[in-house]
Amino acid sequence: MTPARRGKPPRHFADLAPGERAEAVTALGEKPFRAKQLATHYFAHLSADAAEMTDLPKATREHLVAGLFPDLLRPVRTLEADAGTTVKTLWSLYDGVKVESVLMRYPGRATLCVSSQAGCGMACPFCATGQQGLTRNLSTAEIVEQVRHAARALQRGEVAGGPGRLTNIVFMGMGEPLANYRTVVDAVRRFVAPAPDGLGLSARNVTVSTVGLVPAIDKLAATGIPVTLALSLHAPDDALRSELVPINTRWTVDEALDAARRYFEATGRRVSIEYALIKDMNDHAWRADLLGQKLTERGRGWVHVNPIPLNPTPGSIWTASDPAVEAEFVARLRAHGIPTTVRDTRGSDIDGACGQLAAEDR
Ligand code: SAH
Repeated sequence: MTPARRGKPPRHFADLAPGERAEAVTALGEKPFRAKQLATHYFAHLSADAAEMTDLPKATREHLVAGLFPDLLRPVRTLEADAGTTVKTLWSLYDGVKVESVLMRYPGRATLCVSSQAGCGMACPFCATGQQGLTRNLSTAEIVEQVRHAARALQRGEVAGGPGRLTNIVFMGMGEPLANYRTVVDAVRRFVAPAPDGLGLSARNVTVSTVGLVPAIDKLAATGIPVTLALSLHAPDDALRSELVPINTRWTVDEALDAARRYFEATGRRVSIEYALIKDMNDHAWRADLLGQKLTERGRGWVHVNPIPLNPTPGSIWTASDPAVEAEFVARLRAHGIPTTVRDTRGSDIDGACGQLAAEDR
């Protein structure tokens, strides 16, 4: 193992941009062309195991794996729901810090919900991770490794439903991805680079979900990587949103929506608005109308809304909206011409649904 620099996870192959890999390999005294072989094993075959890299001499692969593939993620526990098609994994990182990821398999696609930080500093009161505060940012490789493990389990037929492929990644696990901006963008680059430089996923199938850090949204648009942006709005008015998403006191509803609209203009990607429906809190018909109005006044066809029934977190006084209230909220948005899809709450019984990731060692 590469010794940890203080406070930082050991450097891993997945931290390196394609152009940095040959140098890292030569720094270990091996031939530069080995970098391409390692990339193929890692990104195409999803392997970081020297025993599987049989096209390299044994001593070489052991040396390279020891130097470039530290074990960053140790599974502590996995929990399954939905007949094994939803799998939550609790990971222990090199320093004992815990994070979670959730794999959700549907007919024709498989989505991994990844964590970008251990804990979160955004303090949204309805979110389990928000109650913990921020422990630390994850490294690029710590994020990519969550994905590799899931993609490998699917590839090897270890997930109910037989062998398959990971198709989608959502940054909706623990943490605020745009508060760990560079690391997250680097991870996205690994996801979308064609194999063997990266995992070869489609950028549109990668979703970055944010509380609305406006300058970072604009920076993300400027990278030119057309990932899908999700904005966690949860209220169309500043008074309530500042309570539900405290960063709203820094960037208001209008500022966040303007940034979302700019993101659409820059990337052509339709933006998702996330809206956790909380009973008697933000589920009023007038709020649906206000949201519909604020979205349509910024144009048509640029946005859709994902209401999510609140997943109550332990100790929370809040619950999900009544079904009739939810239906009315959805109907109002649709009446404004806003495509609206209620998100499912997969994995809620294993605390694996949105906002439930708390990563205590239960
Ligand atoms: N920090 C990012 C990612 C967080 S999780 C963000 O805020 O967007 C992804 C989504 O789950 C966010 O929209 C978040 O607001 C939502 N969420 C958090 N807690 C929830 C809960 N208890 N029930 C339903 N959705 C929740």
